[in-house]
Amino acid sequence: MVGRFAPSPTGRMHAGNIFAALVAWLVAKSQGGSMVLRIEDLDRERSKPTFVDAVQRDFEALGLTWDAGPTFQHDRDEAYCAAFDALDRQGLLYPCWCTRADLHAASAPHRGEKPVYPGTCRHLTAAERAAREASGRVPAVRLAVPDREVTLTDLVQGPYRQNLARDCGDFLVRRSDGAFAYQLAVVVDDAAAGVNSVVRGMDLLCSTPQQMYLQEALGLPGAIYAHVPLVVGELNRRLSKRDCDAALDELLVRFGTPAAVIGHIAGITGLAPSTDPVTPEELLPSFSVDGLATLFPDKVQILWR
Ligand code: GLU
Repeated sequence: MVGRFAPSPTGRMHAGNIFAALVAWLVAKSQGGSMVLRIEDLDRERSKPTFVDAVQRDFEALGLTWDAGPTFQHDRDEAYCAAFDALDRQGLLYPCWCTRADLHAASAPHRGEKPVYPGTCRHLTAAERAAREASGRVPAVRLAVPDREVTLTDLVQGPYRQNLARDCGDFLVRRSDGAFAYQLAVVVDDAAAGVNSVVRGMDLLCSTPQQMYLQEALGLPGAIYAHVPLVVGELNRRLSKRDCDAALDELLVRFGTPAAVIGHIAGITGLAPSTDPVTPEELLPSFSVDGLATLFPDKVQILWR
């Protein structure tokens, strides 16, 4: 069992990140597994060196230990390129010149979910494609998905299914600025590190079918998934690193010690019977992966308090 921490170094850890990381650690360690740390700095603009250090110190202080890494996505272009080429050789990729504005105009996100790409550039005639190529604008690259159901049984959320064409649509594997997309990077990186246990926030559940499809197309092994509820502020507002909501430095001021922070988070989320200070290590004996299916009364969100 190999789990992972995959923080984006765009801010200090907040209560929601800590909660997801704690569950990831418990899932791996309760099964005798290990943890790898991967710094997801794919987004070079938003990733900041100070947060690369801070996030590691945060994990250390909280007792969320890792056994391998850190690895950095900025070192991994060669591996992403190889995966990209493998998809291209299968004829699965096509250039996309749509702008953000085009996408917004074309598709109303339904049920508050991600917008589904309408396939505009997939269906260009040869002449339309040639005209776009002649414009000199660098296209992004999308993966053409089949009309197919992908199903999984999430350890927390239970059975989940999506139709790739209807619910996801053709998704980006490379942006027009040349950066590889999150979906591709995460699948390549997880496989390279032998990760077979993916625990993360509920907001990424809808990316999982896309990632499973990429695993299949690239001949990579699958993983087990657990998507934990998001920790939200009032009015369903997600805690966000950028807002500094419940960021670790503030949590330490409020609660005093890392164990008190972990204890509070474990208590309000239902991982522990009380909010008394506790270390991840001390939570291990009472934690069971089988219990995850019924542990959280609200599987979608937990109110921060
Ligand atoms: N880097 C992402 C984040 O910090 C997590 C991606 C993942 O777990 O797949 O939200």
